Amino acid sequence: MPLFEYRCPSCGKTTLLDPLGECANVLKSGKKCGFQFPLVEGSGNSKIREKVDKHTTPQSGLMDSDYSWVDDKAAYPLYQIDTAKSGSLHLDQKMNYLFLWQTPVGENHFAKIIYANDCVVSGVSGVVLPLNSKLQNMHIHFSNYESHFVEIAPHSDDIIIQEPNTAHPSEYWVLSGQQPIFSWDPNTQLSGMPPSPQV
Ligand SMILES: [Zn+2]
Repeated sequence: MPLFEYRCPSCGKTTLLDPLGECANVLKSGKKCGFQFPLVEGSGNSKIREKVDKHTTPQSGLMDSDYSWVDDKAAYPLYQIDTAKSGSLHLDQKMNYLFLWQTPVGENHFAKIIYANDCVVSGVSGVVLPLNSKLQNMHIHFSNYESHFVEIAPHSDDIIIQEPNTAHPSEYWVLSGQQPIFSWDPNTQLSGMPPSPQV
């Protein structure tokens, strides 16, 4: 499964978080920080709870932006953790972020979407976990596979996803075996072609 190298909201330091694990940074007290990926064992801040409510509440009528949901509220955290663990790494060239992609039941539809300015409810087969949020705010929504999705790494095993940090202040980096294999600057590469993987 991938590791998330992001700022930990609990201890305030960079952490290397396995989506099933805990922040291993040691606090001044000598105790382990222990922060967990949102929705693991029910963890999550109020913003995450709002997002869970939103994406488990059916809607109808016109929407300002695409709106997706799954009817089973209890399943939302399971989809989130499963995608964080084993999603494939993609770039969304329209929304301009890296994300993990997972289809829990293959081509079958398990969730629903209303596209912007459309009253039609359609079925969808995929889970999208955008990686541009702060670690504590990461949450999923639902989508079909879109033409503006580009696969970066089919398997997220053994990769490290780094948010911008002092070494690369404007870019997200993806590492495999400690080597950068992809970088993405959301400020300058809006809707452009993704840069070639670096070796
Ligand atoms: Zn921490």
